[in-house]
Amino acid sequence: MKSFYVKEIFDQDTFISIKDQVYSFIEKNENFNYTNSYGRYWGLIDFTEDINNKILNKSKEHTGIDNLEIAYIQCIKYQKKDGNVPLLESHLDDFYATYTLDITIETTIEWPLRVEDKFFDCFPNSAVFLKGDEDNHDRPPYPGNDDDYMIMIFANLVPADHPMMEEIKKLKDLSPRSKKAFFDKIGQSLMQNENLAGSWKWGKGNSSKTERTVKPWDFLNPNTEYATEEEAKRRFKICDYCPELISLTKQCKKCGCFMHLKTKLEEAKCPLGKW
Ligand code: SF4
Repeated sequence: MKSFYVKEIFDQDTFISIKDQVYSFIEKNENFNYTNSYGRYWGLIDFTEDINNKILNKSKEHTGIDNLEIAYIQCIKYQKKDGNVPLLESHLDDFYATYTLDITIETTIEWPLRVEDKFFDCFPNSAVFLKGDEDNHDRPPYPGNDDDYMIMIFANLVPADHPMMEEIKKLKDLSPRSKKAFFDKIGQSLMQNENLAGSWKWGKGNSSKTERTVKPWDFLNPNTEYATEEEAKRRFKICDYCPELISLTKQCKKCGCFMHLKTKLEEAKCPLGKW
C-alpha cells in the first residue's frame, strides 16, 4: 500500500489560517454544491499563495517528491441533507494523482477512512496521502445525526511536468466568469449524480464505436485523447458561425459547453451533428 497517514500535518498557526480560509469559502461560495450520491457539499477552493505553498511544501516533505504541483483543491463537507446520507463505498479513484492529500479541517464525528485494510482517524489537522487510483478506500457507515458534519480538503498532487498540468493551466487562465461557469457545470453534473445527458454526453462523430459518456473533469485526465490542432480549429470555426454560440462566453446554447475547450477533445461531438 502506498497511502500513508500523518497525524498532525501543520503547525497550529498555519492550520488556523487554512481553517479560516475554508470557513470563508464555505460562507461565501454559492457554488458549494451538494452531491446526493456522496452526501456531501463540493467546491473548488483557491487558497492564498502562501497557504498553497505551505500545502505544497508539506507534500514534498512527506512524499520525498520534489517536483510536485497542486493541480486543484476540493473543499468537501459531508452532511446529511434531504434524506441523503454521506457515503463512501469501497472504490479506486478514476482520476490520476501522484497522491491526493486529504486533510481533515473540522468534524463533529469519528468517521475514519479505511485504505485497504487500515483505518486512518480523521481528526482536525490530520492528513492522509492517498494513492487513490491504486489503494482501495472507503468509510464505515456514516455515524452522524442531521447536525453533524465533517469538513475536509482534498489536494490533487501531480508532477509539475505532467501533461495534465498544461490543461490545468489553461483552465486557470480562463476569465473568472468563464471559470465559474465551467466549474458550475461540473458541480451541477455532480449534484445530479449523472452527467447532464445532453451537455456532457460526447461521442465520436461518425464512428461506429459505441458512444461513451464523458465526464467534464476528463479535462483533467491525462489519458484523454485530444483532437489535432487543425481539427480543433475546424470545429471552432463552425461553432463561431453557428447561431447557437453565445459570443461573449463562447458557450454553446445547445450543450452548455465551452467550445474553445470542447472542440479540443477527440471524442467530443456537436449535438446538432455539425461536426
Ligand atoms: S457545438 Fe454545434 S450547436 Fe453548439 S455551437 Fe457548435 S456547432 Fe453550434
